[in-house]
Amino acid sequence: MSSILIQGGTVVTAAGTLDADVLVTGEKIAAVLARDVTGTGGQDETPAAAAADRVIDAAGKYVLPGGIDVHTHMEMPFGGTFSVDTFETGTRAAAWGGTTTIIDFAVQAKGTSLLATLDKWHAKADGNCAIDYGFHMIVSDVNDTTLKEMDACIGAGVNSFKMFMAYPGVFYATDGEILLAMQQAARSGATVMMHAENGIAIDQLVAQALAAGRTDPVDHGLTRPPELEGEATSRAITLAQVANCPLYIVHLSASQALEAVAEARDAGQNVFAETCPQYLFLSLDDLARPEFEGAKFVCSPPLRPRDHQDSLWRGLRTNDLCVVSTDHCPFCFKEQKELGRGDFSKIPNGMPGVEHRMDLLHQGVAAGRLSLPRWVEVASTTPARMFGLYPRKGVIATGSDADIVIYDPQARQSLSAATHHMNVDYSAYEGLEITGQVVTTLSRGRVVIDQGGYHGKPGDGNFLARGLNQYLL
Ligand SMILES: [Zn+2]
Repeated sequence: MSSILIQGGTVVTAAGTLDADVLVTGEKIAAVLARDVTGTGGQDETPAAAAADRVIDAAGKYVLPGGIDVHTHMEMPFGGTFSVDTFETGTRAAAWGGTTTIIDFAVQAKGTSLLATLDKWHAKADGNCAIDYGFHMIVSDVNDTTLKEMDACIGAGVNSFKMFMAYPGVFYATDGEILLAMQQAARSGATVMMHAENGIAIDQLVAQALAAGRTDPVDHGLTRPPELEGEATSRAITLAQVANCPLYIVHLSASQALEAVAEARDAGQNVFAETCPQYLFLSLDDLARPEFEGAKFVCSPPLRPRDHQDSLWRGLRTNDLCVVSTDHCPFCFKEQKELGRGDFSKIPNGMPGVEHRMDLLHQGVAAGRLSLPRWVEVASTTPARMFGLYPRKGVIATGSDADIVIYDPQARQSLSAATHHMNVDYSAYEGLEITGQVVTTLSRGRVVIDQGGYHGKPGDGNFLARGLNQYLL
């Protein structure tokens, strides 16, 4: 087996920072070797360096566990079109940005079975991914067969089921259906993930807006008010309490929803929540950009007025928000977002982001909003624990997969569609100057990104059969 020594860096984990060299043998981390920083020189001649096949100099750099993005949508059908990143292009872009695991969503269409859906998504991803991947299951058709199949999904390594209180007629589930699925999940210890927006009320507001001639992208945001995310979040929490089911709120964007989550957590309920970089860095002002530019920022829940951002950053500090995922769901501006010219309700919902999550969160570190260990915790360690991958993933420790990112905290870069690697024709952060950049990414011991080049191939990534949520007793 080949070995790599990552030498001279600062290892950052959720537990803290350590001046240490990391020895990788084959696909695993073989040793974390603390350095005596008072010692003088001669590092090149350490026994570990002499024995390694390759030495990577990480002096002045952070050495992080690879990022885990638990919310992506590659090749996802939506509104008659598909998100434009394939599993191949999307996972490669993830690797460029220091993410070494994604968990994507298999999407049950009405009238189809969960297991057939899972097979279909395996066929899309198998042999194409640059990094390791798992699946959640979107349950959009609750019936006796589906409920029985949930256990089979768990047996197949899919332990988390996403449901929607939004999108009536598409993914929407009634409160009764949600309760049934939660009861089923609770019997097996599985987690239900919820898109919490009151879609029934939203559809009325959308119809009123269109009837009044309000058709611009900003009206997408105005017809999905934060109160209706807060209400749905509270309702999901209540249903989960009745069913005694662990609940994970996806892409939380509104302070009202955060308050509901915080209250439930304070009461000891198994309620968890993630947010996404777009809600931390972008706002309703972006949706209001002129000349249909706002369509680039249409996602659901929508971008919120700026004052919600402070609540979300505070939630990340207090752990009421414990994960940052991207909800990566890219649609090109040309021909896809443009489907909604003259009718915002026809703009495909979703934004690109899988490549920039680690970098954007690093801006939170640079601005003093997150500590270094907390950055790693929300981007890697907690996602691993939440979705049954720890300690194989999410930590730099002996025996863990060698998913490692070498990160230069001093580098400067400008985000742009001209330089990103996602298969989409715009950047939501065009021209944004940021501090920090991935230098090297290892995926299970293989150097896939290094010095500005991609060195992997489709199929390097393996499917991850996941265990249960590790925060449950
Ligand atoms: Zn999503």
